[in-house]
Amino acid sequence: MTQVLLPGATLGVLGSGQLGRMFAIAARRLGYRVHVLSPDDDTPTGQVADLEVKADYLDLDRVAEFARSVSVVTFEFENVPAETTSICERFAPVRPAGSVLFTSQNRRREKTYLREAGLPVTPFASVESVEQLTAALKELGTPAVLKTADWGYDGKGQTVIRSVDDASAAWQQLGVPHAILEAFIDFDSELSVVAARGMNGDFVSYGPIGNTHSNHILDISVCPARVPASVAQKAIEIARAVLERLDVIGVLCVEFFLTRDGRLLINETAPRPHNSGHLTIDAHTSCQFEQQVRAICGLPLGSSEQRSPSAMANLLGDHWEAARANAGNVPGTEPNWPALLAQPNVKLHLYGKREARLGRKMGHLTALAHSVDEAERIARAARTAMASH
Ligand code: AMP
Repeated sequence: MTQVLLPGATLGVLGSGQLGRMFAIAARRLGYRVHVLSPDDDTPTGQVADLEVKADYLDLDRVAEFARSVSVVTFEFENVPAETTSICERFAPVRPAGSVLFTSQNRRREKTYLREAGLPVTPFASVESVEQLTAALKELGTPAVLKTADWGYDGKGQTVIRSVDDASAAWQQLGVPHAILEAFIDFDSELSVVAARGMNGDFVSYGPIGNTHSNHILDISVCPARVPASVAQKAIEIARAVLERLDVIGVLCVEFFLTRDGRLLINETAPRPHNSGHLTIDAHTSCQFEQQVRAICGLPLGSSEQRSPSAMANLLGDHWEAARANAGNVPGTEPNWPALLAQPNVKLHLYGKREARLGRKMGHLTALAHSVDEAERIARAARTAMASH
């Protein structure tokens, strides 16, 4: 029988960003202790954890020591090396398993696995040379998107190719040995389903959530997404199949393109809570982070019932920049927090990052309202108010 980890146990998290921070907050609320390991200190997760270990992911002695100090290991950073999770698995269960992380941290492995499982993915081809790229461009057509197989997120390591003649330049520019070429999807919208699966196979899901990106980075999420019930149901069915196939214990997000002719194609999966699921903290009975805690501890999952339509707006370093510009570029100007917080039904989440760089996720806000349209309007207004001076 699997051992249930009760409140009071120590949970280990690899990676120390905002996802780990919100996981740690949920874990501590439930009475768990949290240890975090990453190569940095004074991190968003470390600031709220019981213990912050600063060590390289490949410092396997330190990683082993870390794993010995906890009852279960999870991760919040998708690019944790496989060696790291393997060492952890010798001393504590890793949930979701390191094999799940291994599959989804490489676009080629992930897409191949999903396609072989009969799940709908964006048409793609593996590419390892300019000759293969040229052949793939002829097969998939242009425009197409060339992506690095490893270490890709938020549009990093990808480039749109508009003509077969640009193959050579695009391959040089990407500069990696393994890539995939994807058909460019002229999508109607982007959706995600965040879902959790417990140790006994229980399944709960949120969404679908409707996502809008800006410069390849998530900008706004709304829940429920503005899609027909049949599409919503299909997206949840696909997400369930992904979690079951991969035997996920924990949380996983499936991101979809909804094509103009109503088809759902998986863009990518992430075996952890997801930025689009942050609105579950304020809008749902149990949030995605609480589900991660419950699932990895072998506890029953919580209700994922939505209590209010909601919209989440990401707060990037760019918004700090805008606030500074609106204040006449006075150095050290902070965003106008009182103006943002004056909006009723807006919840502010800041991640404790000291330096606001362009494109850096600094926090998010969630607006609650009687409709998603109204929630989105309030979220956008609150973000504008934050930059006003
Ligand atoms: P990714 O890092 O792969 O999630 O890509 C980030 C964003 O780039 C996606 O959310 C889409 O907005 C856009 N994108 C990525 N791949 C494609 C594609 N094959 N067709 C059209 N847009 C894409």
